[in-house]
Amino acid sequence: MKEQFDVVIVGGGMVGAAVACCLGGSELKVAVVEAQVPEAFASDQPHDLRVSALSIASKNILEAVGAWEGVTSRRYCPFKRMRVWETAGDTTFNSDDIRYPELGYIVENRITQLALLDRLPHFDNIELLMPQAISKINYDGHESELILADGRVLQAKLLVAADGGQSRVRQAVGLGVTSWDYNQHALVIYIETAYPQQDITWQRFVSSGPQAFLPLTGHYGSIVWYQSPMKFGVYKPCHTSNCGMSW
Ligand SMILES: Cc1cc2nc3c(=O)[nH]c(=O)nc-3n(C[C@H](O)[C@H](O)[C@H](O)COP(=O)(O)OP(=O)(O)OC[C@H]3O[C@@H](n4cnc5c(N)ncnc54)[C@H](O)[C@@H]3O)c2cc1C
Repeated sequence: MKEQFDVVIVGGGMVGAAVACCLGGSELKVAVVEAQVPEAFASDQPHDLRVSALSIASKNILEAVGAWEGVTSRRYCPFKRMRVWETAGDTTFNSDDIRYPELGYIVENRITQLALLDRLPHFDNIELLMPQAISKINYDGHESELILADGRVLQAKLLVAADGGQSRVRQAVGLGVTSWDYNQHALVIYIETAYPQQDITWQRFVSSGPQAFLPLTGHYGSIVWYQSPMKFGVYKPCHTSNCGMSW
């Protein structure tokens, strides 16, 4: 039995789950296929390494679909100021200048994902299949067919590839990729500081790549540091990366 959907979204991460929520309550029949159940949140968990700076525009989207409360009730860090500098030039943006209470929010990616996934059961037109593996993807140039590991077959008028950097959907439908190597590696860590975090993010752009210090909650902060692989003492080029970064 083939099940017909207007939209099938592969990947229930931040992007896929947000697309699904935006289609929630519409007349479209939607399925979200996510391979892994994200770990539930607990306030005593250490911060995840994957964090994002969410802009006011992103917050507005999350608010519109009813997911922002799921972020604020878990863990997030608002920031009012953003200092950005390079070898020459140094600018500090301040939300007061645009009469906004904040410029943005540092949020762990998993928390944004959990807040969005929480909303999906509220929409009758969305079916969340999680955890669910995909055995095969067929695309004839018009419609897509997904054969799931449990034997279900989904047919979609529109297939959304929200399955991350190594997208299997992209490969299955033959979308090309242009990629290049920046010859940079990135170190992402979180640290504990003696004093609580301030309301500012620091981002420095130098020839070896960007360096950022982002505030997390309490006494924690996140450091993202790009550097030549040689400087990190390891050189392991990533030939499969589609984003051009070497990790
Ligand atoms: C160091 C770093 C810093 C960043 N900082 C920011 C920032 O400050 N602000 C910002 O907006 N963005 C930032 N980004 C970018 C941001 O992290 C990505 O754009 C975002 O995570 C992409 O989300 P996604 O849902 O598309 O992919 P992912 O988060 O990778 O999610 C993909 C989902 O698809 C699922 N999946 C994969 N394959 C399958 C399959 N075959 N079947 C079913 N499910 C599948 C996975 O389990 C996962 O849940 C940063 C990225 C990096 C690397």
